[in-house]
Amino acid sequence: MRFSGSALGVVLVALILGLLAAPVRAETGTTERAAAPTVNEIRIFGRSVKGRALRAYRVGDPASKTKVVMISGMHGNEPGPARILERLIRGGPIAGADIWLVPYLNRDGLARHTRKNARGVDLNRNFPVSWVRRPGHYNSGPRPASEPETRSLIRFLGNVRPTYVISMHQPLNGVDTSYGKARPLALRLVEGLRLPAKVFHCNSGCHGTMTQWFNRTYAGAALTVEYGARMTTTQVYRTGPTGLLGSVFASR
Ligand SMILES: [Zn+2]
Repeated sequence: MRFSGSALGVVLVALILGLLAAPVRAETGTTERAAAPTVNEIRIFGRSVKGRALRAYRVGDPASKTKVVMISGMHGNEPGPARILERLIRGGPIAGADIWLVPYLNRDGLARHTRKNARGVDLNRNFPVSWVRRPGHYNSGPRPASEPETRSLIRFLGNVRPTYVISMHQPLNGVDTSYGKARPLALRLVEGLRLPAKVFHCNSGCHGTMTQWFNRTYAGAALTVEYGARMTTTQVYRTGPTGLLGSVFASR
C-alpha cells in the first residue's frame, strides 16, 4: 500500500500530537491506576519541597467505617518501618478496615538520609499545635505548617478523617501510651508488635508534632510507634504486618 504525500503528513502530525498529549506524570490530587490487586487506589496527595510526589496507597475495604492512616518515613534517617508498609502494599488482599499507607512522607530527607526535609525542617515539629520556634536538631521551621509535606498531610488527614493514625519512627523501641484516647489502640499494638509500652516526651518537650495536632483537631486517635535502630526480619515480615492489621481489626 502507498500513502500519498498529504496522507503521510496527516499520520505524522497525528502521531506527534498524540505523543505531546501523553501524560508525563500524574498531577497532585489525581489518582493513578492501582499497581497491584491488593491496592485499591494510589493517591498523590502532595509534593515535597523538591517536587517529589507524596503517595498514599489504599488497601483493605473502602466501604469499611474504620478508616486508618499508617505513616512512615517522616524522618528521612528512619527508613526501617517503611519495609513493613511495603509488605502490606505488596501482600494479598486485606479485609476489615479501609487503610491508607504512606510509607515515604519525607521523600527528600529519605533520598539524602537526613532527619529533616530539604529546607532543614523537622516535619514532626512543624504542625500547628503548641508550635514554638526552635532551631537545630528539632528545627520547627519559620512558622507552623511552613513546609509542603506538613500541609499536604494536614489536608490528606482532613479528607480521610481516620479513626486511627499510626505514625512509625525509629529508634526508641516502644509504643507511645501517653494519649488517653489512643490507649486502647496502643495496648493492642504493644501486644501485636511485641514492643514495650512507653511514654515519649519528644526529647525536647512535644511541640508541633503530628500526633499532638491530630489528637487535638479530630475525634480519631493518633499515636507513635518507635522501632529500634535495626529492625529484625521477624518484625518486617511477621509481627509488623500482622500486628498493625490486628490493631485496627483488619486481617489478610
Ligand atoms: Zn522519627
